[in-house]
Amino acid sequence: MPTWHRIKEDSIMTQATALATVESAGSEDGITLIIHAGAGDRGKHHTPERSAQVKADLTRALDAGYAVLQAGGAAEEAVIAAIHVMEDAPEFNAGRGAALTSDGLARMDACLMTGDGEVGAVAGVSTVKNPIDAAQAVKDQTKHVLLADPTDEEIAAWGVETRPNEYFITEARRRSLAEAQAGGDAWAKHAGGDGTGVIGDEKHGTIGAVARDAAGRIAAGTSTGGITNQMHGRVGDSPLPGCGTFADQRTVAVSCTGIGEAFIKAVAAHQVSDRVRFAGESVHDAAVATLGEVAAHHGDGGMIVLPATGRGVVAYNSEMMNFGYRSAAGERVNG
Ligand code: ASP
Repeated sequence: MPTWHRIKEDSIMTQATALATVESAGSEDGITLIIHAGAGDRGKHHTPERSAQVKADLTRALDAGYAVLQAGGAAEEAVIAAIHVMEDAPEFNAGRGAALTSDGLARMDACLMTGDGEVGAVAGVSTVKNPIDAAQAVKDQTKHVLLADPTDEEIAAWGVETRPNEYFITEARRRSLAEAQAGGDAWAKHAGGDGTGVIGDEKHGTIGAVARDAAGRIAAGTSTGGITNQMHGRVGDSPLPGCGTFADQRTVAVSCTGIGEAFIKAVAAHQVSDRVRFAGESVHDAAVATLGEVAAHHGDGGMIVLPATGRGVVAYNSEMMNFGYRSAAGERVNG
C-alpha cells in the first residue's frame, strides 16, 4: 500500500483506496461557516508555537466570516471575509506568505463561486493583496470566468488593493524554496515525471472557506500560492472551478487543498457534487470516495464540503488538516 494511505481511528472506508479522516461540521440548517488552511504532515514543522499561531489565525478568520453571516450577510461575503484574514496571515500559503515559484516569485491563484453557478478566478497574480478580491472582480466585472496573469491596468480597473511582490514573500518561504532547490524536494521528483512521488508536505498549503447564509445560499472560495518550487506558469486545482473549488445550490459548496494535479485529474470538487446529485450519496460518502480517487492519482489532501441543507464535513487523507467551523451547533478549531 502506498505510504500516504494511513488508516485513522475514525476512518470510513467505502472503497479500497479511500482511507480518510472525516468530521461532521456545522448545523443541519441555518448559518454555517467552515474554513481550512491546508492539509499535510503534522510531524514535520508543527511546533506548539506554530500550532497556537495557526489556531489564533483560524479563529480570527471564523470571527470575521461568521460576523457577516450573523448580520444577515451573503455566504459569498462571509467566504471573502474569512479568506481575507487567512490571506493576510503570513503563516498560510495564500496572499502574504504564499509559496514561491522556481523563479523566486509569489504567484497566486484564487477562485470564488456561488451556489447560483456564478464564478470568477485568477491564476498567477503577483501583486493583488487579496487574490480572492480579484476572483470576485472577474466574476462581477468581466464576462469571463478565469483570467491568468491579468495586466496592471486590468487589476487597477477592478479597484482591488495591490502590493509589490516582496510584500508576499516571507523568510520561511525563501528557506523552503532554497531547500527545495537544493534537491531534497519530492515535488522536483514528481515534476520530473516519475509520477510516483507524494509532494513534500510542508511545501504547499492553501486556504479556503465554504458558507451557508441565513437565506440558505451557499458559496465557496479558495486562495493559494501553489506549491513551492513549482514551474513558472504552473496552475493548480484551486482556481479551476470544479477541481479545487465548486458551489451548486442543488448540492454542495466545496473547497479543496492538497496536491493540485491529483485534484484536477479527479475533477474533485465537481465529483463530490455529482456523487451527491446523481448517485444520491451522502456528503460524507461523496467526500470520502472522491478523496479515494485523488489518492489513486497519487495525491493527498483534504476538502471542506457544505450542503445547502444538512451538516457539512471536513475530510482529509493527509496526516492532518488545519480547519475550523462554527454554527449554532458550536465551534471547533484544529490548528
Ligand atoms: N492545491 C494547491 C495547489 O496545488 C496546493 C495545496 O492546497 O496545498 O496549488
